[in-house]
Amino acid sequence: MSEYNKPLPLVTELSKHFYDGCKQGELLYQKCDDCGQIVFYPKELCPACMGRRLSWRKSNGKGKIYTFTVTYDAAPPEFATDVPYALALIDVDEGFRMMSNIVECDFDKLRCEMPVEVVFDQITPDIALPKFRPSEPDEQ
Ligand SMILES: [Zn+2]
Repeated sequence: MSEYNKPLPLVTELSKHFYDGCKQGELLYQKCDDCGQIVFYPKELCPACMGRRLSWRKSNGKGKIYTFTVTYDAAPPEFATDVPYALALIDVDEGFRMMSNIVECDFDKLRCEMPVEVVFDQITPDIALPKFRPSEPDEQ
């Protein structure tokens, strides 16, 4: 594995469970046991009812691109060698929206509503980042 020179996520006591899931190939989110609110990113309290009973759930890793941008130039220095790269907001099937990269595709073919699926990029021995690639809707 080559040295990873980009910023690493800050793993906290709260987010450790999420990143442990990523290492095992699972995209995790939370659901409020009191009101049913879907919660992402990881939180201590439900943003809808302020309840503390949030339980972890496993996503099927599928969703659709809500919106995206492709960076061709003027990237931050740490990401300059990656251009072009695609950054997107993804509406995940279970009802949460997350930001990630779209990978393994021709960026000219990206479009909103495109079905995508999660893949995990093991960037260090301890951290795997969830990214998304195009998927076929009939695979679901
Ligand atoms: Zn709640």
